[in-house]
Amino acid sequence: MHALASGALRAMLPMKGRIEFVDVAKSYGTGRRARRVVEGCSFTVEPGRCTVMIGPSGVGKSTIVRLIAGFEKPTSGEVRLDSAPVRRPGPDRLVVFQESSLFPWMTTGENILYGPKARGEGDETTLARAEQLLEKVGLQAFRGKFPTQLSGGMQRRAELARALINDPVVMILDEPFRGLDAMTRMLMLEYYVHLADAARRTSLFVTTDIDEAILLADELLIMSSIPTHVRAAIAVDLPRPRRLADIIDNERANDIKIEALSLLHEEALRSFAAGSRAAAEFVNAYAHRHRSAPTHPLGGG
Ligand code: ADP
Ligand code: MG
Repeated sequence: MHALASGALRAMLPMKGRIEFVDVAKSYGTGRRARRVVEGCSFTVEPGRCTVMIGPSGVGKSTIVRLIAGFEKPTSGEVRLDSAPVRRPGPDRLVVFQESSLFPWMTTGENILYGPKARGEGDETTLARAEQLLEKVGLQAFRGKFPTQLSGGMQRRAELARALINDPVVMILDEPFRGLDAMTRMLMLEYYVHLADAARRTSLFVTTDIDEAILLADELLIMSSIPTHVRAAIAVDLPRPRRLADIIDNERANDIKIEALSLLHEEALRSFAAGSRAAAEFVNAYAHRHRSAPTHPLGGG
């Protein structure tokens, strides 16, 4: 009853967090040395939805993340957040990177409370919220432990909690689960889906994993080879809540997967032709994983 009422209220409020990329280009260096990383890139991250960006390694995804975060400026074009040009980093856009950013000298609890404390918010409500988040990410028993005393998966969960407590308008996650073993990664995904389903905030999730992408996405942005742009946007109109197991058996999910993989494969081949070793590995990995057909998504066997 209460949840319903607050949900309805939320729906009436204008949702914030629309990110727009308008014909953005980004190069590093100048003249002959210039490296064009992003070019002709336009897309929109709709408020209250999860947009997933997927593309081979090295095409420029993290560069796009840095542009949204305001750590870097586009060479041309414009990045906007709720119609205003992004000029600098801000607490409204929180980025969780692959690399751990927990402070090693603080306990899990202290790490989670770092943001609010830095803003001078340490009241009862904040503490209660920290407690709630600790429970959600399954770290109650570890609140007093230091990062080095946590497993890789626990560290990522602590990072998620640390980001979420700040209640950012936009949550940006750049391959947050990369480097975790397969089992931990699956558990992390389940935690994340659970958290994300509970709070339908605006989020941009970057990954190279198609199952992860389909599990999370309302919209899938397939990125081209470098200099990158959106090669295709695919609506992932699967019911929620979703579970990994459902996605593997679902016919619609499989159609989306085949479409996405064939585009990704083309782009990876392009990167490969341009000499990217990461792209070669990507092509290989996907050739083995595609399970719905014994042949390659592009056909030909
Ligand atoms: P992805 O996240 O898709 O793996 P990145 O955005 O990290 O790709 O990198 C894309 C390309 O941009 C890479 O070839 C990288 O070498 C280049 N690049 C990234 N940052 C810089 C920089 N500061 N100076 C020069 N080149 C860079
Ligand atoms: Mg990256």
